Amino acid sequence: MKRDKISIAIDGPAGAGKSAVSAELAKFFRFIHFDTGALYRVLGYFFLINKLDFKDESIVCKNLESSRIRFKLQDGIQRMFLGKNEVTNEIRSDQVSFAASIVSSFVCSRNFLLKTQRDIAKNNDVIMDGRDIGTVVLPNANIKIFLTASPEVRAKRRFEDLRSKGFETDYETVFSSIINRDKNDSTRAVAPLVPAEDSIIYDTTNVIFEEVFKNLSDKIVSKLKLES
Ligand code: C5P
Repeated sequence: MKRDKISIAIDGPAGAGKSAVSAELAKFFRFIHFDTGALYRVLGYFFLINKLDFKDESIVCKNLESSRIRFKLQDGIQRMFLGKNEVTNEIRSDQVSFAASIVSSFVCSRNFLLKTQRDIAKNNDVIMDGRDIGTVVLPNANIKIFLTASPEVRAKRRFEDLRSKGFETDYETVFSSIINRDKNDSTRAVAPLVPAEDSIIYDTTNVIFEEVFKNLSDKIVSKLKLES
């Protein structure tokens, strides 16, 4: 008999390390990894480059369909496109983070991206990371993890990540952007950033990456064994 697909939801604020650990876990368990933040980033980027007012809900809702967001999953890499144009790297800037955080607060944007995310989980064993995966997108996920860390540590991680990707920025700018996004993401009316009731909350402030990986992979193994 065909078994149901397995889904693992990893939520948490910006810079908590969700994407990095999700990618490693996906490799280890041979699942796909899907970073849902990239979808909202592409939307934010679309409004920025087309000089459309992304703070205006009616303008955002009217223009969603014309964005032509696409993605390709290739060898563990998630490539993002607007139509035919690849924007995988461009969507990582702080300016795009801000636009994504505003655009993602509108119900129409969330509804627009919901089916895409659910379809991925319907067709694949997946580790999906974001803000509302355990609460809204995949409420029946096999395991829900909520990763967090102090704002200072998250800003440091984001800063190092941005620098390694070639973006010119400084720690203070990244720190205030993280605080701003935390506020937007957790106070919005729709799909706010909150841990699902049945999630495992894990504070990684003083935990090195290898330990976070080990801890989560152990939890996943024991949960999946229990279910099989
Ligand atoms: O995860 P990342 O920092 O790339 O996400 C960019 C923005 O997209 C977040 O600040 C948040 O506003 C939005 N987002 C969301 N729901 C998700 C993933 C991201 O609202 N599931």
